[in-house]
Amino acid sequence: MPTDLLAELNDQQRAAVTAPDGPALVIAAAGTGKTRTLTHRVAWLVQEHGIRPWNILLLTFTNRAAKEMLERAGQLMSGGIESLWGGTFHSVANRMLRRHAERLGYDRSFAILDEDDASRLLKQCIADLGLKGNKKFPKPDVLHGVFGLAASRMADLRETLEDRFTSPEADIEGMLKVHDLYDRRKREAQGMDFDDLLLNGLRLLRECPDVAEHYRNTFHHVLVDEYQDTSRIQSDFVDLIAAGHDNLMAVGDDFQSIYSWRGAEIVNFLDFRKRHPAARIYKLERNYRSVPGVLDVANDVIAGNPEQYPKTLVPHRPGGVRPTLVHLSDGRHQARYVVEKAMRLIESGEVRPGEIAVLYRSHFHAMELQLELNRAQMPYTVVSGVRFFEQAHIKDVVAPLRLAVNPADFLAFARWMELFPKVGPKRAETMWRKLGGRLDLRDYESRAALADALPADARGAWCDLESALFPAGDTALLGRPGELVETFVKAFYADIIDATFDTPRSRQEDITELCAFAAKYPSTEAFLDEMSLQTNLDSGTPQASAGRDADPDDAIRLTTVHQAKGLEWKAVFVLWMVHGMFPSSRAAEEPGMMAEERRLFYVAVTRAKDYLWLCAPQMRRSASGDLQFCSVSPFIEEIDPAKLQIDRPTTPAPAWRGYNW
Ligand code: ATP
Ligand code: MG
Repeated sequence: MPTDLLAELNDQQRAAVTAPDGPALVIAAAGTGKTRTLTHRVAWLVQEHGIRPWNILLLTFTNRAAKEMLERAGQLMSGGIESLWGGTFHSVANRMLRRHAERLGYDRSFAILDEDDASRLLKQCIADLGLKGNKKFPKPDVLHGVFGLAASRMADLRETLEDRFTSPEADIEGMLKVHDLYDRRKREAQGMDFDDLLLNGLRLLRECPDVAEHYRNTFHHVLVDEYQDTSRIQSDFVDLIAAGHDNLMAVGDDFQSIYSWRGAEIVNFLDFRKRHPAARIYKLERNYRSVPGVLDVANDVIAGNPEQYPKTLVPHRPGGVRPTLVHLSDGRHQARYVVEKAMRLIESGEVRPGEIAVLYRSHFHAMELQLELNRAQMPYTVVSGVRFFEQAHIKDVVAPLRLAVNPADFLAFARWMELFPKVGPKRAETMWRKLGGRLDLRDYESRAALADALPADARGAWCDLESALFPAGDTALLGRPGELVETFVKAFYADIIDATFDTPRSRQEDITELCAFAAKYPSTEAFLDEMSLQTNLDSGTPQASAGRDADPDDAIRLTTVHQAKGLEWKAVFVLWMVHGMFPSSRAAEEPGMMAEERRLFYVAVTRAKDYLWLCAPQMRRSASGDLQFCSVSPFIEEIDPAKLQIDRPTTPAPAWRGYNW
């Protein structure tokens, strides 16, 4: 209810929530209620200001964040939240392109290429241009990263490449050729990678004034969370939609800008007022998340970045304990320590498993911990490095769905055909040409042409599969994604799972989960969109190891710091606070990277509400198996020692309740 809505806020938050029309920038430190302010602002606009939900656009960093915010705003309102557009920049651009893609020369059924698709296509382009033999030529995903960086900064590609590859032997011309071919192939296949979604989203608004006009008239209010991590292309996109009325509210924290490696530009945030001179600035100063001990440490951490505008975290909550610096012997010891502490917290009844998180700089830092959690049979979820939807088996079974929606999708075609006997990448390409660059599964003739194009050894398998998928020629299954995958697996893919993967049961389980997930969608198109837009920031969907069946609320969360952005837990462990791990060894070499790593550490520290452990093992095993000594992270040395408790547990950690270490 409206009165309650404002009663839950402090004066500064209330001022921002009830800000008059016009541009507004909320600059505030971690945990001060920026996200909460946006949620309440949405509810306030609808309840008090007479704005209809479909006239609001809410942009967030992950789809999950959007979902959560909409749920919360929905609870504060008396209905209608479903019609509000909320999501990531990619998902919003996609939604627009699905309606107007033909204006840019695409079909509306264009396919979205994820990182893995993009990599495969690039690999092919590199091979076709005869550059594969050159060992020094960048790998496809490296190249894709640089293409993406140029795109998100809207910078000149040649210059970006020259900046990145400085060796005189770097084949810049070759890379540019790869880019051109890659672009052409994507177009031929009616495909867009993630960068294209944003680029084309922006082009749509720039080149089609009527479309831009339509969205400007639709979205009377635009709100953006985590604005400090927007790239140039994203801030331009927002500005174009908000142009005219300029009802744009952006919230962010320059201390938490951690995506410059992906083209985020903090200047966007700092120069907001240059682009929106009338912008009102709101500051939130009280931190509601963490106990004072955690904030004391956070303040010390960020003080190491001198170039920033000073902002001190002021605690709202009293009491609590100081964070603990833990000296451990090695990674295994660290893993045992975390498991033991987590068990104690849970057993004391004070903290539920879902209120505990373990954060780390890079995915591989958590390997020993995963083993230990498995041994202790403690449920946990991993926000995984390989995205659920990008795993080979998932992509294999989704390939027919993609073709069903976009008959020009060569990548899906090749992926599928290479599952048949005697078909490799070359053969798949020849077949594709033979089919005239299309396979329309709905069309009998097109399917018959495929049977002809397949090598004799594969024809039998195809005929069996065809009659399972299209009984008596009926193609209705193409519109029912869950059933289609199920049938595909039964009739064809189950044997391949057994022959290809060393963990067939868990692959099969993934696919079962996928079918259940797919069955919720009314059409194949809707399912594919949802699936392809799960960026790595959203991963972790049904991915859990020991806790596969566990409710995420009952499982400890393991995540990189990047993916922990905006979230909070009662108890937080940060692993491997040592030189070369956090900050990463690469950071020490690149100018500007140390400051970004420090901000990353600040993000890690400010996730904790009540308890924080910073773990520093003294030894680690290198890739070659040697033991190396590690020194404590320079970031720890920047913290006043009086603000930390020190723990030096003995090795090995004691046995815990019959559990034999
Ligand atoms: P981050 O920078 O990490 O994204 P944030 O500024 O977005 O943080 P929120 O996540 O909105 O902060 O809020 C942090 C915590 O404080 C949440 O648990 C939120 O519910 C709580 N909180 C914020 N404002 C208030 C308030 N006025 N009263 C009580 N709790 C509050
Ligand atoms: Mg937030």
